[in-house]
Amino acid sequence: MMSDLVRLSPSDFVGFLRKENIRRFSLVYDPVNKHVRSSHPQLQPLAEFIHGDRRDFAEHEGLFFQVTEKHDTLQGAFVHRTCRGQAAGGVRYWTYDSVEDFLRDGLRLAKGMTHKNALAGLWWGGGKGVMARRTDVDSENPEVRNYLYSEYGRFISSLRGCYVTAEDVGTTVADIASVFSRTRFTTCIPEDWGGSGNPSVPTARGVVCAMEAVLEFLKMGDLKGKVIAIQGMGNVGGPLIRFLFEKGVRRIIACDIKPRLVDSLRQASNGLDLEVQTVSRGDDSIFREECDILSPNATGAILNPRTIPLLKAKIVCGAANNQLEDPNRDDSALFDRGVAYVPDFLANRMGIVNAANEQYGHVSNDPLFERHLSRDWEYSVFQTTLRVLRESKATGEPTGRIAVRQAEKLSWETHPIFGHRGRQIIDSLVADR
Ligand code: NAD
Repeated sequence: MMSDLVRLSPSDFVGFLRKENIRRFSLVYDPVNKHVRSSHPQLQPLAEFIHGDRRDFAEHEGLFFQVTEKHDTLQGAFVHRTCRGQAAGGVRYWTYDSVEDFLRDGLRLAKGMTHKNALAGLWWGGGKGVMARRTDVDSENPEVRNYLYSEYGRFISSLRGCYVTAEDVGTTVADIASVFSRTRFTTCIPEDWGGSGNPSVPTARGVVCAMEAVLEFLKMGDLKGKVIAIQGMGNVGGPLIRFLFEKGVRRIIACDIKPRLVDSLRQASNGLDLEVQTVSRGDDSIFREECDILSPNATGAILNPRTIPLLKAKIVCGAANNQLEDPNRDDSALFDRGVAYVPDFLANRMGIVNAANEQYGHVSNDPLFERHLSRDWEYSVFQTTLRVLRESKATGEPTGRIAVRQAEKLSWETHPIFGHRGRQIIDSLVADR
């Protein structure tokens, strides 16, 4: 029974829920008895699956789900740890083959947000939203999207603030406007509505700071005269190219799978040493480029036993999430090869920093944002990168492991005013059901 439910496709699982007359359910961790409890006895096998999992489950405080009335879409809110504050992280709209894939993605991404937010010194916990895209639903239709995201907003409101959502892969700022129509627990609201909008440009700025920190650590000077290879020229990669030329890099080699994007950047390159290439999805040539820094800004799992041996760069630093295919194996492989790897969740934090600050009101040139990009603030991207690299050198351990350890420690500190309130909200949700 246990494996039966997790093996179902999200659509078949929704069929099962409909038959059982379940529209919303939760899987909540009981820290006293140390087990995961399901809101419905029929779904206890899912709770057992999660509890028994060693790879992605890390005592997540609560997982919440609903199925939309129309379009039968499974929506989830995954709350990992809320000691530092409400769980914050974007909502992903993605296609999943099975309930297991859907659950694992939410669990892994929520834990990742705990680490990202804690290492950034934010008073936020970690969480993630996930919506399962159906092939039989026209997801590009604006009315359908508006319905799905409004329903997601209503769902988030019902969680009373233990999770605050934001933009993520598959979700646009326009979708967030629909979420915002039903909840105050969202960030990345459109700029012309008074929000912080698309977080990608801030993310690119953070990547530049992380690059500068590694160069300084390795006594390689600054970005002036350097050669950078960039995979992915989308929302982050595009502005990153611009910022790097502003910093005086000598040459950039960049690739993308979208010919139109590549052409438009080629046309905009007037006089700069920018070589752009259209590549196929599995093309590894960017990893072979002679360069100082390789910057992954496309998809995850691109650092693996196939690509790491190809690297000529001394540094890997980019925004793509989950760059290591296997967090332990590939972290060690990079270290053993003498490549300075800036953990992705450290380099790409500025998107969530931008969003998180928005909850306290949006300020132009926000000093609480800018200090993350400064050289001197203790939790700035620059200082945190240096701290991770120094500890890695001192202990002989790879940087990913060090960054996770530092983040874990910070993530258990409780919010100076609200304490561990997220857990209290979850307990009251369960008690009031
Ligand atoms: P995006 O979709 O706008 O850009 C990604 C680009 O990579 C696209 O243009 C795509 O065509 C290209 N691409 C995909 N596969 C490729 C391949 N094999 N080779 C070359 N190019 C390829 O996404 P984005 O918002 O720029 O984000 C980039 C990465 O950074 C993602 O992994 C995202 O999760 C992560 N990230 C983004 C933000 C943000 O603020 N946007 C914040 C944190 C992390």
